[in-house]
Parts: sequence; structure tokens; C-alpha cells
Amino acid sequence: MTIRRLSEDVFQRIAAGEVIERPVSVCKELLENALDAGASRISVTLLQGGKTSLIVEDDGCGIPFDELPLALERHATSKIFSLEDLDRIGTLGFRGEALASIATVSLLEIRSRATGEDRGGMIRSEGGSVVLHQPLPCPEGTRIQVEELFFNLPARRKFLRAPGAETRRVGQLIQEMGLIHPEVRLTLRSEGRVLFDTEPGRDTERALRDHWGCGAARSLSVSSGGVEAELWWSGPKEGRTPLVLFANGRRIQDSSVRGALLAGAGTCGGDWLVVLRLPPEDLDVNVHPAKTEVRFRRPGEVFDLVRRGVAKLVEGGTFGDHWVLPG
Ligand code: ADP
Ligand code: MG
Repeated sequence: MTIRRLSEDVFQRIAAGEVIERPVSVCKELLENALDAGASRISVTLLQGGKTSLIVEDDGCGIPFDELPLALERHATSKIFSLEDLDRIGTLGFRGEALASIATVSLLEIRSRATGEDRGGMIRSEGGSVVLHQPLPCPEGTRIQVEELFFNLPARRKFLRAPGAETRRVGQLIQEMGLIHPEVRLTLRSEGRVLFDTEPGRDTERALRDHWGCGAARSLSVSSGGVEAELWWSGPKEGRTPLVLFANGRRIQDSSVRGALLAGAGTCGGDWLVVLRLPPEDLDVNVHPAKTEVRFRRPGEVFDLVRRGVAKLVEGGTFGDHWVLPG
């Protein structure tokens, strides 16, 4: 065997594949950027489940014209400056990697006008190379269009599902993000049809009804130490126990919190929403490029809080109770 260096180009595409797996991963990154930009309206438009085209538009703070090329560069971010900042991440993004990764494996166009700028601009890239950067009048906010995802990574493109399946994943993601940002108006269009368009000024209850098809029967917030858990439950149901879990605004997967839920709820079943809030320094979000895994500094405490809170909620407790659990 001979060891050879991968060309930069090949390496970049492989690395991009770690962050971006399918249209829903593109959508997650773009939604997170829109939320970080303080958007109050976000709309997503798909063609062929996002394989042909995926557009995310927001009315957030926008990107200054001169910074558009930087936004596409790897490791360029406006969200952290030093290693110490990793300890107190208050934004969803911080790696400065998403746009660069998406650009590497697609045809990408950004149109944006930053707050306070009197005209906007656009930048277009093909497989990561900038082919156009010019002024363009546009409304305040940002519109990002991703076309032909994985056109240059056929191994990955092959694994994409039928458009309907990719669209459902995107729809689910947007609905879930809506649970902790109920006030942000979210619209999803596919093949020219509006799949949903949330009411402006929703609250969590309304967002849950939109997502679960039924309201929450009970909710409870519990806290202990510096950790708070907001728990929402649809009431008992046969079968599975789907959990939507957030930690400091981030949609995550965590088997230990899932274990705590099952330990507390027993065989009750039902839909669950768990929203954890911790001091930023107690949560390491820099575990995986896709940022869906985290590490808790005190996992035992989180487990205990969720388990006890869930047990209390299932047992009784009225809507909207707040319990401070003794440590
Ligand atoms: P990160 O979110 O980790 O900083 P990204 O690659 O996702 O990295 O984005 C790079 C930068 O581009 C961001 O730090 C931000 O300054 C800018 N940006 C991206 N999307 C938007 C948006 N929708 N609105 C405003 N700024 C954006
Ligand atoms: Mg980002």
C-alpha cells in the first residue's frame, strides 16, 4: 500500500459530507443561521425535496456586502472570536463551517442586505468557487438558494430518498424548531404548494397542537442547581414515546435524557417535548460537526432532574406548574 495525500478538492468534499448528509441537514444549518440573525419570519421552499433546489429566506440582520465572500469561507464566523468563547456559546452556530460545506457540494447563491445598508448584494458559488459577487437591490434579510445538492459527490447523491421522503424530513425539522421559537413565522412550500404557514405570534401550546395534532395535556418546569427543564406531555398514548429534545435552544439527540424520560414515565407513552436550559459552560456543544450531540458537564444531575420531573408530571401536577426540586 502506498500512502498518498488526498487532493484538497477531494478532501473538502469528504469533509463537507460530515456536516451535510441530506437536504434536511442543509435546512437545519440555514434555519439556525436565520435564527441566529434574529429573524421573525423564515420561509423554506423546496423543489424535488430539496435535491434540485432549497431556498431559505429570512428577515434577520443580513450579511454586509463586503463580507459575503467570507461567509462562504471555512472557519469564518461572526459568532465566536476565541477559544474562551466556546465556553459561553449563545448562538446556534459557531464553527463557521456550514455555508462553506454546503457551498462545496452544491450551486449556492446568497442574496442579502444587512441592517443599515442601503443596498444589498449577491454572491454565487459553484462547488465552492465564487463565480459572481455583485451589488443587487434586495429586501433586508437573507435569501440562500442551494441547487443540485451533491452534484459533485455522486456517492452521497445516490443515497438521497424520494422527494416526498426528503420533504417530510424537512417539514418535521421546521415544525420541531417551531416548538422553541413559536413566535417566529415559519412557512414551507414544496413544488409551488404551501405545506404549512404558521400563525404569527404563536405560543408553545399552539405550536405543539400544530405539530402533535393535539395540545399538551400537562406541562411542568423543574429546576435544580442551575439547570432547568421544561416538560410538555400530550398525555398517555399507546405505543412509542417520541421525544423532541432541546438543550440551550439546540435540537439534540441524547440517549441519557431519553433514558431519564423512560425511567420517569414508565409505560405511559405519549409525545414529549423537553427543553433544557443550562449555564453555557455546563454544556459542550462542540462534539460533532453536525452539532446534534452534546456533552453535559454534570450528566447525572440532568438525568435526575428529567426523571423526577417527568415522574411528577405523569403522576399529576396541573398545567404550567413550576417545581424547584431540592438538589
Ligand atoms: P456559523 O453559523 O457557525 O458562524 P456559517 O457557515 O453557518 O457559520 O455562517 C457563516 C457566517 O455567515 C455567520 O457567522 C454569519 O455571520 C453569516 N450568516 C450566515 N447566514 C446568515 C443569515 N441568514 N443572516 C445573517 N448572517 C448570516
Ligand atoms: Mg451556521
